[in-house]
Amino acid sequence: MRIEKTVLGKPFADNALYVRLNSGQKIHRFLFDCGEGTCNELSIGELQKIDHLFFSHFHLDHIAGFDHFIRANYNRITKPVHIWGPKTTTEVIFHRLNSFTWNLIDEVPSRWIIHEITPQKILTTELRASEAFAQKHPVGVRDFNSTILETADYRLSIRFLEHRIKVLGFKLQEKARLNISKAALIRNSLPEGHYLEKLKDPKVDNDQQLKVGDQIFTVGHLRKLLLEKQPGECLAYLTDFIFQESRLKEWADWLNGCDELVCESQYLSNDRELARENFHLTTDQAAKLAKEAKVKSLTLIHFSRRYQNEKPDLFLEEANKIFPASHLPEGWNS
Ligand SMILES: [Zn+2]
Ligand SMILES: [Zn+2]
Repeated sequence: MRIEKTVLGKPFADNALYVRLNSGQKIHRFLFDCGEGTCNELSIGELQKIDHLFFSHFHLDHIAGFDHFIRANYNRITKPVHIWGPKTTTEVIFHRLNSFTWNLIDEVPSRWIIHEITPQKILTTELRASEAFAQKHPVGVRDFNSTILETADYRLSIRFLEHRIKVLGFKLQEKARLNISKAALIRNSLPEGHYLEKLKDPKVDNDQQLKVGDQIFTVGHLRKLLLEKQPGECLAYLTDFIFQESRLKEWADWLNGCDELVCESQYLSNDRELARENFHLTTDQAAKLAKEAKVKSLTLIHFSRRYQNEKPDLFLEEANKIFPASHLPEGWNS
């Protein structure tokens, strides 16, 4: 997999999801939520490399570990800290940062960029360590678009989910890649070599000529002969929401064919009423969603503490009956 996931936290305790996307040129790092003790499972060096931190919502079990993230990154100067979340994100992050004393960092040019997502707008604000995070600098407002973030390597989109408040569900889609076909090299009696890198470089024009052995080709001709498109990988992270039968098709279309769905299943199937009352999913509902969306793998997380005397395998067994490619995070099996 080029998208690598690590579920942080333990069964029946707070969880978070750490994701690395390796584009071949660069590793992009994402953290989804920040429950108690979850950030401590990453090294300080790893925390300092995270490009984007996404909050699904601000219930305590999704933000209780945020101070550890702040501690690792308040003075980061290698790149800005990007934080994304639903309505109130700007105020939550501003007040959290302002709950500490910062009288010794006025020389530190660290920048925190906060993105607040509502169904209407995406509001971006900058906070600066050099000002003790005390000023909110408006960066911009744009109309809401479900693709909240897009680079040459990936697209990150969201859905609003119901949890008595609006919660963000996330899908990370790697873009299709161009690879050199080994079979085409053999078929055309062409050698391996540095010239192949030029074919994958979008900055190199099709008309440029390349000498390969004794022959001269245009880049465009070689691209047609040798490049093959490889579909991108996809991972989704959905947590803390009520199952809405009326939205199942919409969710399934959005997640269709994803390689990995990391999904909450706070309750066992028998406790469906409790799940409804608390706006959470049961194991069978998570499995039903995975099945409808035809994802390749489902990983169950975020089990209620009420089951702490049970084995996590119980959740897996229930999900497997509906969706056999269900899994527990590494190390959770008893
Ligand atoms: Zn919640
Ligand atoms: Zn939760």
